[in-house]
Order: sequence, then structure tokens, then C-alpha cells
Amino acid sequence: MPLVISTPAGLYCEAGDFHIDPWRPVSRAVITHGHGDHASWGHEHYLASRASEQVLRRRLPEAALQTIEYGEPLDINGVRVSLHPAGHVLGSAQVRLEHRGEVWVVSGDYKLQPDPTCAPFEPVRCDTFITESTFGLPIYRWRDPRDVFAEVDAWWRANQAVDRASVVYAYALGKAQRLLSSVDASIGPIYTHGAVEALNEAYRASGVALPPTQRVAELPKGHDYSRALIVAPPSAQGTPWMRRFGDLADGFASGWMQIRGVRRRKAVDRGFALSDHADWPSLLSAIAATGAQHVYVTHGYSDPLVRWLCEHGLDAQALKTEYAGEEGSEDSSFPTGDSRNDRESILDESQNGSPPSRGRR
Ligand SMILES: [Zn+2]
Ligand SMILES: [Zn+2]
Repeated sequence: MPLVISTPAGLYCEAGDFHIDPWRPVSRAVITHGHGDHASWGHEHYLASRASEQVLRRRLPEAALQTIEYGEPLDINGVRVSLHPAGHVLGSAQVRLEHRGEVWVVSGDYKLQPDPTCAPFEPVRCDTFITESTFGLPIYRWRDPRDVFAEVDAWWRANQAVDRASVVYAYALGKAQRLLSSVDASIGPIYTHGAVEALNEAYRASGVALPPTQRVAELPKGHDYSRALIVAPPSAQGTPWMRRFGDLADGFASGWMQIRGVRRRKAVDRGFALSDHADWPSLLSAIAATGAQHVYVTHGYSDPLVRWLCEHGLDAQALKTEYAGEEGSEDSSFPTGDSRNDRESILDESQNGSPPSRGRR
């Protein structure tokens, strides 16, 4: 019996009687990170990393949540469980399971690029590795993120020079904070959509340094946005919320922006190819670093990655899951924390759990 199997409710460890990132309600869920397709509602008991606590408390305010430090072992029905940094977003974890001398690791989502807003990916030795493959095609190779952030800065300055507001769409959890922590905040004021600001608060409460930001909803009517950078979730694109900015240029920060066709479909002025997932070379090096002989591949382009691994002598196969990858449901909404019945709150509530349809693959 494999230590982890895929069931209709999600990945399941029978020996320990718990699920990992289940998509249907279960009694005991180990959660890798706060994105909507991994941290779902309705479980009786949640276990997650301490670093993810502030994010998860906002996403799942009523949840019975237990947290442990990275590397701190916990015995669940005889299975030794520990969480290890995945480098994806704040608090993201790989789940290490040890049972009768056998070690499995479930990656959750991960990246190897540096990210000042979360702990770096830690390779964990194991016999069997369950890896994501959101960008599991050889065409996906990320540029140095410093170059991408320099591009954002230059674009922002160029927009300022022609009195045009700069709006960047970024997933509210993770991408938005990574962007904020990396742009040159001395260029001008930075404003946020309520969905982004709610997560900024969770990050700041967790000790992550972000530049000063102000919620758009708090600014007076007729405010001048021409020098500002505005960070909003992708779901804000094309909504009436945008009208207040007047003349604007918009950009989208996502790994999918590496593909010209996606850029066109998203109908934005600029694409910034910035991903919180591993690219092809990083997937291969992360898998190699585990030393695993057996690899299960979830999300995204599992088949090409499985084929490559098998050709290189590993026992690899695809594992069916319902994770969405770097698309809409990673961004399914958090409460804005905005009690005022403004457009932001309405927008966010109405889009609860439903990914934006524009540009889906
Ligand atoms: Zn994710
Ligand atoms: Zn995912």
C-alpha cells in the first residue's frame, strides 16, 4: 500500500488517516499553503506551518487550526509528519511523511527562485516525491526576477512621465507581496485593492517587510493617480472599480506572461513574466535533489514531465488531482477586511471561489 494515494476527496495517507490539501471536506487536513485550491473550507481539523497562520486565519477564520514550525515533527497515528519550506508563498510547506522507514514528500506548490517574502525552498531527501508541474514544459525558463522588477520600475516611471497611472494585476496572495517587496517604492505612491491589502496585513503581521501601501477605497473621490502604482487582483480587470484611475496603463505579473498568446488574450498593455512556481530546469533540479526513485506528478503539464523522468531512469507517473496551478483559483478571494460597502467588497464577494474566465487555458 503506497503511503499516499489519490482519492475523490484528495491526497490521502491511510496509515495516518489524514488528507493533504483535500478539495472535499475531511476530518483531518494537512495544508501546504493558503491558495484557494490547496486550502479549502470545511475540514474538521487543519494542520499547517506556523508561518502560514496569519494567512490561513484570514482565509479560514473559523477553522480549527493547529500550526507547527518548519522541521518540527508531529506523530499522527504512527506517521511522523513534518513541514519544510517550499518557497512558493508565505508559509508554504512541503509535507514530509515517514512511516516504517519509508519517506515520502508532498511538494505542494514550490519555486526555487529567491523571494524576500518567504522562506527559501528546502530540498528534502525522500524515497517518493509527489511534485507539482504547473510549468512542466521545457519552454518555461524564468528570467532573473531582478530583471523583471527592473522592467516594472522602468514601466512605472515611463507611465508617470506621461501622467498615466500604472495598474499591475497580481494574485492577491503571494505574487502581490513579492512584487511590492521588490519594486522601487521611492518612485511614487503605492495603492492597493482591498483583496491585496488584506493579505499585506497578514504578511506584515507575520514580520514580512513591505513598503507603505494605501487602500484605494480610503482615498477621496477625484484623487490623482497619475504617479501611482496600483496593485490589484486579476479579477479587478475591466470592472467599474478601475474607472477612478483615469488614464492608465495596465500590466499582469504571472508566469503565463512568458507566452505571447496569453498576453494577448489577457488584453493588458504589458506582461511581466514572474512566477511563484518552479520552471522546467528548477523542477528537474528539485526532483534530483530529493534523491527520490519514485516520483508522482500533479497539476499542469504532468505528462511531459513524467515522460522525461522515465526516460532518465526514474519510476514516474501522473497523479490526478484538482489543483488549479497559477490561474484563477489560486486567487479565489479573501475577505477584504473592508467593512464599508464599497465596490471592492462587492466585487470580491461576488467572485468568491470562481476564477476569472478571461484568458483561461
Ligand atoms: Zn499555490
Ligand atoms: Zn497549486
